Amino acid sequence: MFNEVTPNPKRPEGTRTQNYNPGAWWQADKMKDECGVFGIYVHPGMDVDITQLTYFGLYALQHRGQESAGMAVTDGQNIKLHKGMGLVPDVFSGNVLNDLTGLASIGHVRYSTTGASEIVNAQPLVFRHRRGMLGLAHNGNITNVNVLREILYSHGAIFQSTTDSEVLVNLIAHHSQHSVESGIKKAMIDIEGAYSLVVLTTSALTSALYAVRDPHGFRPLCLGKIGETWVVASESCALDTVGATFVRDVQPGEIIRLDKDGLTSLQTQAAAKSTFCIFEYIYFARPDSTIDNFHVSTVRREMGRQLAREYQVDADLVIPIPDSGTSAARGYAEELNMPFEEGLMKNRYIGRTFIQPSQQMRDLAIRLKLNPMREVLAGKRVVMVDDSLVRGTTSKRIVKMLRDVGVKEVHLLLSSPPVIGSCYYGIDTSNRKELIAATKSVAEICQAVGADGLHYLSLEGLLSIFGECTGGFCSACFDKKYPVEIPNNAGKFSLE
Ligand code: SF4
Repeated sequence: MFNEVTPNPKRPEGTRTQNYNPGAWWQADKMKDECGVFGIYVHPGMDVDITQLTYFGLYALQHRGQESAGMAVTDGQNIKLHKGMGLVPDVFSGNVLNDLTGLASIGHVRYSTTGASEIVNAQPLVFRHRRGMLGLAHNGNITNVNVLREILYSHGAIFQSTTDSEVLVNLIAHHSQHSVESGIKKAMIDIEGAYSLVVLTTSALTSALYAVRDPHGFRPLCLGKIGETWVVASESCALDTVGATFVRDVQPGEIIRLDKDGLTSLQTQAAAKSTFCIFEYIYFARPDSTIDNFHVSTVRREMGRQLAREYQVDADLVIPIPDSGTSAARGYAEELNMPFEEGLMKNRYIGRTFIQPSQQMRDLAIRLKLNPMREVLAGKRVVMVDDSLVRGTTSKRIVKMLRDVGVKEVHLLLSSPPVIGSCYYGIDTSNRKELIAATKSVAEICQAVGADGLHYLSLEGLLSIFGECTGGFCSACFDKKYPVEIPNNAGKFSLE
């Protein structure tokens, strides 16, 4: 049972290793965050420690990627790069930041949606080209990457990595005969899919930072300011962290250039309707971020309220699966005037490494991550709220834990509709056949996870939270209406 979701198949069974993660069973049953990007351009003459700020910004975006991190900094002549595997504090330990000084920087945290989790695929990517040096950090997935790669091969391009992001860099360089700006603009005509980018350029003439969002606006990207210094980040929580004031979201199809003369905006052809990823509000984004004028935590609470308007369960108390279900559980309890309790205590101090427990100790190791409070739960009929159900393996373990401490009934409520389709726009979803809602009825899922009842928030109910004041959403993993054509048989590695 424990082995079926342990995500490192290369680990020899029964060995002690420093790479075992007791929280992995939990993460294996979630859609995976994609990547986070960050950038700073300092107004000339200002004394700003951009590497410290970039480090803080990446730390704030750590939830968007934990496999690798990197930072590229220009002093106006060159671009220096440091990147590595692991979390932000591990990658930038020691005196690394002291060697990175300059006037503009970009940074990246990565979870691999295309390309293996290896250092060669870590970002930012930095290259020399005919107009100087160019660094790029990317959040998203390019859906026509294989076609673009073949075209670039036919022009003699060579690649060091297997990521779609390197194809992007090559394409921009290929089109930059006159300027990087026109290169980005032309590349955007060729590229299909999801991309929020920060691009750093330097040449004999000038240095600049670009912020670019695809015409559909799949992934978030926002702009802030600290005095005269410009800051770009995937989420506004990173602006807050570095003390920047939120200015606005980068618009779908927009190229923003930041340089010594300030800000220039170029609006390329935006899609007729933006299709921002609605799952950012459900799970990926940090609750303290605001995206397209909607505060994430407030939206999640409203999802819980809407769920309560759709399904009233006769139970004694409402508990969340921490932390992803907390806001929605509060909203559900508030709407129905039911008691709310934190019945499951999550241990937030489990690192990524841990000594492999013996077979007998594995169930106890799971309790390291999550502990049900018998005093709160015993003898109760419980509504348990989570954000989504992907494979169902986590829910099954948690329901069993609740039963073990004497819970009488467990009703599982999800603040999203059933996940029935994979994502091709920058989120690592399980294979479709592993998505429990794609293959099982509600009754079958109840039986599989051991719950007494199961209810999803309806898609109509979810969309109603945003009213008329929004440009539109991608909800393809719920309704399989993909706003940008996807390649046949596409999967995580088919886009390499
Ligand atoms: S398919 Fe789902 S996860 Fe992917 S962009 Fe659309 S809503 Fe987001």
